[in-house]
Amino acid sequence: MSRRPLIAGNWKMNTTRNDALALASALTDADLPQNVDVAVFPPSIWIEAVRRALGQDIHLGAQDCSAEVKGAFTGQVAAVQLRELCDMVIVGHSERRRDAYESDELVGRKAAAALAAGLTPIACVGESLEVREAGEAENVVGSQVDAIVQAIGDVPASEFVLAYEPIWAIGTGRSASSEDAQSMCAFIRSRIGAGGPDVRILYGGSVVPDNAGAYLAQADVDGLLVGGASLKADQFLAIVAAC
Ligand code: PEP
Repeated sequence: MSRRPLIAGNWKMNTTRNDALALASALTDADLPQNVDVAVFPPSIWIEAVRRALGQDIHLGAQDCSAEVKGAFTGQVAAVQLRELCDMVIVGHSERRRDAYESDELVGRKAAAALAAGLTPIACVGESLEVREAGEAENVVGSQVDAIVQAIGDVPASEFVLAYEPIWAIGTGRSASSEDAQSMCAFIRSRIGAGGPDVRILYGGSVVPDNAGAYLAQADVDGLLVGGASLKADQFLAIVAAC
């Protein structure tokens, strides 16, 4: 089974318009390897400008989408609207689960809405430190995966991406060991069932150029979701080069 690696940069609520354009230009000017998909997720307000600055071979996405198609949902952006600008979307990032109280069920509906609109969702799952220390990580992550799989129904597994992001590793500098990342990604793959071998599963959490290769060497880690290190073109490109 060969799954094409994906390196995704989540810029979160960072970058001025000029920063975003400079970052997009630096990535566009780089010599990217042919064997890897590269994607960036700027703040939604910059997506259109970044799209114009970005090379054709770099995927572009939003950091969230609505589960609804249209209507009276102030402040939300529909997947079909995003589809006019980009081809991917992150759903269920732990910062949205935490700050916007997004439930497993809502994250599943967002993934389904993205797929229905023709976007590739990267659906995030991951446990808190408290849950890990209580030995409940697989239970919690398993339920998150089940909600996504149930919501998206029989969509071919190659059309969506999952990201394992342990909450305690995001933005903390405390990355998961490559063995722990492999073990959870293998668990997630088995939980998906028949489509498991076709799904790309990323690891995310304090990935930097120095640890990227160790994750990518794992059998069930098909790429990386990168936060902080995606804001510096040289670091992000070094992570891409680790594929
Ligand atoms: C993220 O935001 O998805 C993330 C993994 O952040 P960081 O790489 O900064 O830990």
